[in-house]
Amino acid sequence: MVEEVAIGGGAPVVVQSMTNTDTADAASTARQVFELWRAGSELVRITVDTPEAAAQVARIRDKLDAMGCDVPLVGDFHFNGHKLLTRYPDCAAALAKYRINPGNVGKGAKRDDQFAMMVNAALKHGKPIRIGVNWGSLDPELLARMMDENGRRPEPLDADEVMREALIASGLESAAQAEKLGLPAGRIVISCKVSGVQDLILVYRELARRCRYALHLGLTEAGMGSKGIVASSAAMAVLLQEGIGDTIRVSLTPEPGGDRTREVTVAQELLQTMGLRSFTPMVAACPGCGRTTSTHFQELAQRIQEFLRAQMPVWQQSHPGVAEMRVAVMGCVVNGPGESKHADIGISLPGTNEVAVAPVYVDGEKTVTLKGARIAEEFQAIVEAYVKENYAPGARRRRPARGAPGSATIPIKAAS
Ligand code: SF4
Repeated sequence: MVEEVAIGGGAPVVVQSMTNTDTADAASTARQVFELWRAGSELVRITVDTPEAAAQVARIRDKLDAMGCDVPLVGDFHFNGHKLLTRYPDCAAALAKYRINPGNVGKGAKRDDQFAMMVNAALKHGKPIRIGVNWGSLDPELLARMMDENGRRPEPLDADEVMREALIASGLESAAQAEKLGLPAGRIVISCKVSGVQDLILVYRELARRCRYALHLGLTEAGMGSKGIVASSAAMAVLLQEGIGDTIRVSLTPEPGGDRTREVTVAQELLQTMGLRSFTPMVAACPGCGRTTSTHFQELAQRIQEFLRAQMPVWQQSHPGVAEMRVAVMGCVVNGPGESKHADIGISLPGTNEVAVAPVYVDGEKTVTLKGARIAEEFQAIVEAYVKENYAPGARRRRPARGAPGSATIPIKAAS
């Protein structure tokens, strides 16, 4: 089966991620792509930076196909992409999309020719491209030109404004150049990434106002842990709420030895908590307070969330629509029953000094009261039974599609 993912034109916002393995190591890269895909990544980007890496791309594709993983692969090219895409046609064919950074395609007179070589590879192999601008590698010649022009204005803009304008100009000028070379607008995605939340919002609002290309959204160099998650979510939520963004990547820095799939989970949770897509049933849980002196409700909330996430690779095939299920795990009687009634299934555990019983609510009605040492197991069994009973095949409930209105839908096919 050949996987096809649609970007733009009102299609649901696509989650993508990127590997951090050496692409020349085909086994490690295929394994990490597989893990990212299993976590829910709908596109996976891999670095293609050397002849050794380019030579392994088709092998990686073959390995993934053999594992039953049909996720489309995107090649990330810088500096030598024109050579690699031309000299390694198997690599060019095995990739589903090429990321081109217009800031480091080449200098001076070589720049246009080398850019054209990459676009011609996309034309030859029938692939879309992303014009991926990044403020850390913004085209220095374009920036210098715009700074000079700004200096001649009667009222010059400040340097940050010129920088934002240069990012947008780099993306739009390169996209226009690709169109001139024959690549249809419907096969071009643009991104203009910066690491500041307010800058990202300003840049993408302007980009969306000025063009109809599909937009790849992401805060670059977002950072580690909660800072990276908060910054990415803050920036992207504002834009997604305005209908800006057709595909997202959360650029988290993993802790040493940390789990690369975290960026996929965060991207999914961002889209799901905003009500834009559904990936896995969500567990609402209270934060706990002085009315809870044990960790029971925290452990149960974690257990149920992990259980639900672990089931999804199977359930999304066998129980369509289950991703929209809402579960509540609450710590005491203050808000417990109320929140539980709003969920599809909810449990209210006993707080300190409360009777040691846990009422369970299903579809807003109290159905059973659990007690004793096996509350967690019994509640999990109730959740499982609810899924089997209520999410039979054919009962799928779809959320309305979102995306940049007016942009083309870009089919991204995994080559096989
Ligand atoms: S539901 Fe109860 S335990 Fe949870 S935060 Fe509210 S008062 Fe505290």
